[in-house]
Amino acid sequence: MQIVVVGSGYVGLVAGACFADLGHDVIVVDNDQKKLAALNRGEVPIHENFLPELLQRHRGARLRFSDDLQGAVRASAAIFVAVGTPPTEQGEADLSYVESVARAIAGAINGYKIVVEKSTVPVYTSDWVSKIILRNGAEHGQFDVASNPEFLREGTAVTDFLYPDRIVVGADTERCASVLREIYAPLVDGTYYLRPDAIPRPDRAQIPPPLIATSAKSAELIKHASNAFLAMKISFINAVASICESVGANVQQVCQGIGADTRIGPRFLNPGIGYGGSCFPKDLLAFRAVARECGYDFRLLDEVIRINEEQRQRFIRKVRSALWTLRGKRLGVLGLAFKGGTDDIRESPAILLVQALLQEGCEICAYDPAAHERAKEALNSSVHFAESAYEAARDADALLVLTEWEEFAALDLKRLHSELKYPIVIDGRNLYHPEIMAANGFTYYSVGRPAVSPDPAASATPVPGVKKSARS
Ligand code: NAD
Repeated sequence: MQIVVVGSGYVGLVAGACFADLGHDVIVVDNDQKKLAALNRGEVPIHENFLPELLQRHRGARLRFSDDLQGAVRASAAIFVAVGTPPTEQGEADLSYVESVARAIAGAINGYKIVVEKSTVPVYTSDWVSKIILRNGAEHGQFDVASNPEFLREGTAVTDFLYPDRIVVGADTERCASVLREIYAPLVDGTYYLRPDAIPRPDRAQIPPPLIATSAKSAELIKHASNAFLAMKISFINAVASICESVGANVQQVCQGIGADTRIGPRFLNPGIGYGGSCFPKDLLAFRAVARECGYDFRLLDEVIRINEEQRQRFIRKVRSALWTLRGKRLGVLGLAFKGGTDDIRESPAILLVQALLQEGCEICAYDPAAHERAKEALNSSVHFAESAYEAARDADALLVLTEWEEFAALDLKRLHSELKYPIVIDGRNLYHPEIMAANGFTYYSVGRPAVSPDPAASATPVPGVKKSARS
């Protein structure tokens, strides 16, 4: 099928490349000329596993990039809108990009098309998109608007797209739903997974994925409610971690006990410095705003947001209690991206913490495997960027772990110890085992687990390796 994807960001570019891999002809449209030029030169503007392979495989053949939205719409049967929906100052979703795309689509409708919301949008957006297209010259029956929310996670975006837990198709007519079913058929009928060149199946993937057909409004709600629920799970376990810290319990053991209940499950029970990224913070605000507009005061979400913000304050207090005063202290920082596996720093708790520590007068030397370029734009020039985790640790008063990159979990602890001025590690992501850190001579603070000091008896034992990140 000929498909347009509007927006070449984390969602649009991944969706475009994956649709091409499913066998469709895809035009990815963007209005950012710099991005288009980079894509046409063969560059890969975001850090995502398997994306370079897919772009290489399909660029110039089944996958093209263009700034001509109307031309692309005229040539296509389905238009996926994947532009940004950032928050306004009041916390509502800013739908002006979606609206401007809808207006442009209207002028190019030359036969039956489906217009599909891929962006995360509040309930009722499909009605509005429909109205805007009609107001701008299209006629009833020439198009349908559907909601097909995207659940990919940055860092594993390509495999999430191709091996989804579910595909939600929110369409109000059978004609529209059948076009979407045809687009996803290679996944739902499982033929994609039989191909020798299919992107490898990740652990835990259930194939083929179910396709859940709903109304457009239900699909819009599914996306907001899913993100709100996941954020709630994170804030819940962070609140439990705070109680663990007060009473000297170990949140990891508590999580094991909670997560073994199949009604709860172990995933997303990762205490830390809170959620961030371009989705959870804005989607929670938008969901709360939309609920309010509908007459429901969703105060549970207020509390989820409050706990999340408090996690960063608690972490700063932990740094202070480890170092006494902060002014003039040199801190090594591991991780700037909002989570491991991505270069995205939007709403990254790591960046917010670095900014707060700079304000306190700390000197920061930071290392992130992928996010330096983006972080340089966000942080002032007083942050030094290191080439490795060990360089970030060099002569530091303490090392802070702020992003759960697997690379950090596999560091050589002996070497890390020798680089630091004082062997103090404050881990905002619970990447290491406290006993192993103590055995290797570190004073080690983490989230929801008792702090440990160097174990004199065991300080000469060899480094046995560290816990691998087992995050969702
Ligand atoms: P992004 O900011 O990375 O990309 C948006 C792209 O849209 C940009 O390249 C921008 O230039 C382009 N754009 C804006 N207006 C345009 C226009 N009029 N015509 C053509 N292109 C235009 O955003 P993203 O992270 O890909 O997110 C897109 C949407 O998907 C958001 O609603 C987001 O909430 C949702 N979403 C994001 C993720 C994620 O992990 N990033 C996951 C699921 C859903």
